[in-house]
Amino acid sequence: NRMRIRIYGIVQGVGFRPFIRKLALRFRITGTVCNRGSYVEIYARGERLSEFLEAIPKEAPARSAILKIKTAVPEESDFPPESEDFEIIESAKEEGMVFVSPDIATCPDCERELFDPANRRYLHPFINCTACGPRLTILDSMPYDRVRTSMGEFPMCEDCNREYTDIRSRRYHAQPICCNDCGPELYLLKGPETGKDALIQVRNLIRRGGIVAIKGIGGFHLCCDGSNDEAVGRLRRLKNRPFKPFAVMMRDMETVRRECEVPEGAEELMTGPQKPILLLAKKKTHEAGASVLSEALAPGNPNIGVMLPYTPVHMLLFRYPEEENSPEPAMPEVLVMTSGNPSGAPICMTDAEAEKYLAPMCDEILSNPRKIRIRADDSVMSFYRNQPYMIRRSRGYAPLPTVLPQEYHHSVLGIGGELKNTFGLLRGDMNYMSPYIGDMADVRSVEALELAEERLERLLEITPEAVVCDLHPKYNTGEVARKLAEEKGIPCMEVQHHYAHVLSCMAENEWDAPVIGVSFDGTGFGTDGTIWGGEILLADYKAFQRFGCITPFLQIGGDASSREGWRIAVSMLYGQMKDRAAVMTMIEKLNLCSVQDAKVQMAMADRKINAVMSTSAGRLFDGVSAILGIRKASTFEGEASMALEFTAEAYEKKHQNAGDLQHAMDEMQKQFPLAACIDNKESE
Ligand code: ZN
Ligand code: ZN
Repeated sequence: NRMRIRIYGIVQGVGFRPFIRKLALRFRITGTVCNRGSYVEIYARGERLSEFLEAIPKEAPARSAILKIKTAVPEESDFPPESEDFEIIESAKEEGMVFVSPDIATCPDCERELFDPANRRYLHPFINCTACGPRLTILDSMPYDRVRTSMGEFPMCEDCNREYTDIRSRRYHAQPICCNDCGPELYLLKGPETGKDALIQVRNLIRRGGIVAIKGIGGFHLCCDGSNDEAVGRLRRLKNRPFKPFAVMMRDMETVRRECEVPEGAEELMTGPQKPILLLAKKKTHEAGASVLSEALAPGNPNIGVMLPYTPVHMLLFRYPEEENSPEPAMPEVLVMTSGNPSGAPICMTDAEAEKYLAPMCDEILSNPRKIRIRADDSVMSFYRNQPYMIRRSRGYAPLPTVLPQEYHHSVLGIGGELKNTFGLLRGDMNYMSPYIGDMADVRSVEALELAEERLERLLEITPEAVVCDLHPKYNTGEVARKLAEEKGIPCMEVQHHYAHVLSCMAENEWDAPVIGVSFDGTGFGTDGTIWGGEILLADYKAFQRFGCITPFLQIGGDASSREGWRIAVSMLYGQMKDRAAVMTMIEKLNLCSVQDAKVQMAMADRKINAVMSTSAGRLFDGVSAILGIRKASTFEGEASMALEFTAEAYEKKHQNAGDLQHAMDEMQKQFPLAACIDNKESE
């Protein structure tokens, strides 16, 4: 009847401890609750512990977000002495007790005040409170205090100071607190307007079909009317991004429900403290003309990434009451909100970067003097089997830790992947993950990684004793890792890419026992020097064996082979059929490529020119996509595979009957036996 409970997530400054106390009293639980930096720790005794435990996530305060609850039953001697009460313990900061909050979306109370003409923060574009506002992205150093944030440059006015120091105020110790008198002011970078005029100018540009860069929490967005084909098309041309889907921001839940299928639980996520981009299915059947979404937003894609306004500036973009009688066309309910960056580079966070990289892509730039200290792109999630599924963990989540199944004695920096980099700092049983950094092929992203790593190290007060990087000898992340290791005089270790994936999956699920790890992926450097990607590994935390993989095929043509699935298709057909003439007939039948191109591919295969053995699952999907005539090449990473997935899903929906599906699979097997081959590899 005793238990230690640790609750991880956004559980600070959102009324969590008083909530726990109330709950404890209801279930006649005695004990203590205490802030321990990145988690809240409860020592509880009572007969109704399981009911108490169950009620915590169900009834938690609205702005809190519980990521994990860990329970244990420590020795009686490690427990606080029995008492009749349940107490909130104020503890002094101990070593290793660092809490860096993620940024929190504007709360409903602040939104109400924002549009309340009687409130002194009426239409203030930087309104926030103890429960909401920027955190990680404005933080200079610890402890978290106004002077050590970007808001240090904006001295509080008397009224704000009164609220800041009044324990009964909603803004008690809200570090970014400010108001119309003392807060930052919006301004344009191209035009002369500031404040309210700047905002109105931007709204007018957008409704006339213009493109505007807007400074947000963790960087700039590029924004335009999401219902205007011409505007979206122009942004695609300027951003040099012909097909890759754009995320949108919708005015409110009502708009989201009109445009998209909203699975159960999705609304809670969309309106919660993190407000990620959620991939939702576009509604197929509309009452006549009800949808306003431009087809150019996500061409040929049944889904669209949607988020709701999460800063006061976003809210004011959609609704600005003072100019409701304006002769301008109505403000759109759907805005493109795509990361403001040139292709390959990280999201822009300073005015200088915006002027250099974004100015040529837009008609105006809306900025403000509150400095962004660390980049944080929007988080992206989807729903899989009615559960939220993380795709890109960034703003709103970073740097919340993942809790590992065991404690480690050494602090470690995991430098992260090459293509979609985030890094992690591990201490004890917690791995703190950075916001999304970007594609390390671009030197600007490498600089962003170094900057963010240095900052997080300082904020989290972690001094790594080892650096870990990918096994690939030519990755920029490896170079950064080796450089850091040398500077710090600590070892640098290399881990095979797919083993790292399996380990992450184990850690995330707090799994201790050995596993059969299935890692289906684009590409990673294998321990045998070939490209791996469709791997079955027998793994535990110490080592792994390569038990099986996709039948290896030749990836011919270097970088082009990862964009042009037809090359993979030719190579796979040739590899399987061996007979040149037969392959030629098949290629013509499938209309894969010209006779000349096919000959070149096969000649290169024969002589192993610019050819490397590969088990990449991503390339397998690209190849199959090309063979089936769905996509012969990709303009962005994953395009052909995604198109294949959408086609398969559409087919599945149309042929719900299991017999039909089985029949189709059998037919497929007969025609393309290579699609289902798994090779059993010698173990390492
Ligand atoms: Zn608030
Ligand atoms: Zn003020």
